Amino acid sequence: MPLVKTTAIILRSRKWGDADRIVTFYAKHLGKIRGVARGARRQKSQFGAALEPFTLCHLNLFEKPGDSLFRITHVDLVTSFQALREDLELMTSAARMVNVVTAVTPDGDPDPHVFDMLEQGLASLHHGGDPAFAALLFQIRLLGLTGFRPQTDHCAACGKTQLGGEPHFSPIAGGLVCLLCAARQRVRCVALSRGSLSFLQQAIRLAPALVNRLRASGQVRSEVEEAIEGYVTFVAGKRLPPVDFLSPALLV
Ligand SMILES: [Zn+2]
Repeated sequence: MPLVKTTAIILRSRKWGDADRIVTFYAKHLGKIRGVARGARRQKSQFGAALEPFTLCHLNLFEKPGDSLFRITHVDLVTSFQALREDLELMTSAARMVNVVTAVTPDGDPDPHVFDMLEQGLASLHHGGDPAFAALLFQIRLLGLTGFRPQTDHCAACGKTQLGGEPHFSPIAGGLVCLLCAARQRVRCVALSRGSLSFLQQAIRLAPALVNRLRASGQVRSEVEEAIEGYVTFVAGKRLPPVDFLSPALLV
């Protein structure tokens, strides 16, 4: 059984058996994987609080050939991001970030950019600002990075470049659709104002150093939130775990 050392961010942690935990994490050099932490729920466990969602840690893992579940043998806490578990608004936004990473990344397919983006996203929440807006931007940027970039240049269903009328965002087609295609979508499309479309395009295209200067409020923000939430739900293949309260899926 080879030993693997990696830096990881905990996405999810749930009870397993009498005293163990199954932990899903995004490891910088291994991608999204799961591991079992034996005895993690015992009072004197060496793991302590290091396996709670959102924490950044160094892990020692044993990989068993033919088994996708790693065994976690040692954890060193790097950053706990404790504030993200103590404030409901921060927790909601942090949960949105880890949920979308969980939903759109394949198992065991590392992308250090995804890791860096998640680390920076959680850190930005920790440093204050508008958490819900930070989570929205994070989701748009992550979709772009993982091959689910929302299509905003031509109809995502038929390819036509002249969309005609008000732009409509289709969660199923993954981007803007022309009026004809909008009428044919199985799921209701979200009508986007010109301001919302411009915001979405900038959120996708701007360089990382500039994207945090973007702002959106009122109608633009609510339209883009609705479009992205619909799209993420479709990409995930299901509605993501609720994030507007202490999610049992996240913290059990
Ligand atoms: Zn079309």
